[in-house]
Amino acid sequence: VEPVDAIVARADALVSDIDLGSVKEWKAAAPSRKVVGQLPIYAPRELVHGLGMLPVCLFGGGDRLEIIRGDAYFQSYICHLPRSTVELLVTGRYDVVDGFLFPSICDVIRNLSGIWKMIAPEKYARYLDLPQNDDPEIGGRFWEMELRSLVEDLERLAGTKLSDASLRRSIALFNRNRELLDELYALRRETPWLAPSSELYVVVRAGAVLPVEEHNEMLRAYLDAARASGRPERDLARVAVIGAFCEQPPLGLLKTLERAGCYIVEDDLLLGLRWIRGRVREDGDPIRALVDAYLKASVASAAKYIGEDEKGRALVEAARRSHAEGVIFCAASFCDPALLDQPMLASALGRAGIQYTSFKFSEDTGQFAVIREQAGTFADSIKLWSEA
Ligand code: SF4
Repeated sequence: VEPVDAIVARADALVSDIDLGSVKEWKAAAPSRKVVGQLPIYAPRELVHGLGMLPVCLFGGGDRLEIIRGDAYFQSYICHLPRSTVELLVTGRYDVVDGFLFPSICDVIRNLSGIWKMIAPEKYARYLDLPQNDDPEIGGRFWEMELRSLVEDLERLAGTKLSDASLRRSIALFNRNRELLDELYALRRETPWLAPSSELYVVVRAGAVLPVEEHNEMLRAYLDAARASGRPERDLARVAVIGAFCEQPPLGLLKTLERAGCYIVEDDLLLGLRWIRGRVREDGDPIRALVDAYLKASVASAAKYIGEDEKGRALVEAARRSHAEGVIFCAASFCDPALLDQPMLASALGRAGIQYTSFKFSEDTGQFAVIREQAGTFADSIKLWSEA
């Protein structure tokens, strides 16, 4: 069993490399290789992989990038992610990426896709309209048309045709990835001291840049190493962290929550990497299989236009399933989808008798003292309350 620290260090190096060094290495290994990047949250990476290209999930520059030109493209009262993403583009960090997908999560991403086409007209860029209706005859037919048209674009980019057999192989590999992720999140729910969230986060996020075959190996290795680590259980408050599904908080913020006395046992970080819950069918028409999975097995989140009740219920169920004693709303500043849903989610928690607190972050937040105090007070109140 590889030491857990070594696996985490490997994952951390991949995640913190804003120059996409591992992606450059992958591409340099064969002249015909292409890379397709996607903004948060969800795009069907199986299609990109099935064509022999590398799907890469782009999450902005985090706290490792100084924004010099990116600010010029956006007003000050929107989230941080588009500024750092543009900064990465104009500083050449995305030169290795041949095409970009902008899933329809919010107006900011929609506008970013337009700005992108002006700044980098030579790059393939597509706004990907996700279905907002789960009726197979309406949303299903729409999504199937969208996917078949996306495949035509991607085939042109790859210079090859996508066969059903190849797409099924990719679906099987991503199914394996979903299985391993499920196992990892279950391990954290049951024994958060063995798989702390600050570690789990980088190991999961490494899948944003690694080929899925390699990420599956990393997940397997981490699961074995975490179980063998023998770390002791501590008396911390179990919390769910909700709202950071798109722009990602700096790793220091997750570590701060842990140091403040919290076990994060549930979260919606990196949601696009685990958007489909369960297996996608590996038989029949593979595009139809992806469509059905989206309609029936994608996660209820602020990124979808579904009933408030459904999202509230999903959060309460997730909190109960993970035995979370409280919920921390942790949204990116100015994130419309997260902040618009928050009052409704808070009401659902109130009705269920689950405590919550909230704060906002930016991907380049560098000062955690206030968050530490707030999270520490919340953890203490949970402990006092549950012991009362
Ligand atoms: S952080 Fe929120 S507002 Fe910003 S791009 Fe993502 S979903 Fe949209």
